[in-house]
Amino acid sequence: MAITDDTGGSGEASSHGDYDLIIVGAGPAGLSAGIYARRAGLSCVILEKGVPGGQVLTSPKIENYPGFQEIEGMKLMEVMAEHARAYVDIREGEEVIRVTRVDDRFELATTTGKFSSRAIILATGSYHRHLGVPGENRLSGRGVSYCATCDGFFFKKRAVVVVGGGNTALTDALYLHSIGCTVTIVHRRDAFRADKHLQDSISERGAEVLFDTVVDEIMGAEEVDAVKLRNVKTGAVDTKAVSGVFVAVGEVPSSQLAAELGVKMDPGGFVTVDMSFRTNVPYVYAAGDVAGGIRQIVAAVHGGAAAALSAFEDLAKPYFSRYSG
Ligand code: NAP
Repeated sequence: MAITDDTGGSGEASSHGDYDLIIVGAGPAGLSAGIYARRAGLSCVILEKGVPGGQVLTSPKIENYPGFQEIEGMKLMEVMAEHARAYVDIREGEEVIRVTRVDDRFELATTTGKFSSRAIILATGSYHRHLGVPGENRLSGRGVSYCATCDGFFFKKRAVVVVGGGNTALTDALYLHSIGCTVTIVHRRDAFRADKHLQDSISERGAEVLFDTVVDEIMGAEEVDAVKLRNVKTGAVDTKAVSGVFVAVGEVPSSQLAAELGVKMDPGGFVTVDMSFRTNVPYVYAAGDVAGGIRQIVAAVHGGAAAALSAFEDLAKPYFSRYSG
């Protein structure tokens, strides 16, 4: 595999470089892919629209990534990005706007220029699902938050609701409780889907839990001052005074580039991959949250590594021979 300079790019004046492989996204999947791709000898760059880390940056505490009994999401991603940088160039603030196939290459237009490559790994992650209730957008950033670690500080010792019943909701609730918030968890069903370990921690702390309840409206003139709640079984409606609403109701895949490439997706928009993280489109791979699955850091790291090794294997063969059977 041709490697033309330190970062693997050819440094052409009219573009930012031509590579064997371009990885889009610098979350755990993208970083892991970068390490494996460069160690395999592929010229490679990671394009990241923001900063490395992905959604893990917003996780207050990670307790299930082997090697770290307990670590802040931000810290874990700092360590992972530093490790990846030892091998691969990570271009921050480089958003991929469009991707097209031209002959045997992918051409990527970004916010700053053009890149091209023979293969591409989509590690574009996912973003927070919204509740879609009145008041949510208007009061976003004024009491409505999608990130307890980022915004929790502003709600210290105040009353907040956390909406959702998954691992994120319960982790956020525990974090907010730990900084002195009075936390109420509002969940639409009568059981959490979060890990038992997190459920036990919530019970031990005595946080209020409202099962079978949904938020119908988020209220407040300039800032959140209450939520309108409805019990889905009884139909009873109640208004609860709170300063903050932390929405943790799951993720929506960032699969726009996948759609442009004609990659097959499931009805939820998650990219379909095989066990080697190949998509249905030759030389396009996907890993991490955009590819669905159990959506754990450890799984994203596995997916990134496997995708990079698949790319290496495919690129080592005569063009398209792998796909022509
Ligand atoms: P999730 O597991 O998909 O849970 C989303 C929760 O929001 C569910 O309880 C769901 O209710 C509820 N929900 C969905 N849409 C809703 C709506 N419109 N209104 C009200 N409630 C709604 O999402 P997540 O908690 O963000 O976790 C995403 C992935 O990251 C998961 O795979 C999770 O395991 C992983 N994660 C892991 C950790 C950890 O291991 N410590 C921490 C954070 C996240 P239903 O249950 O009724 O569907």
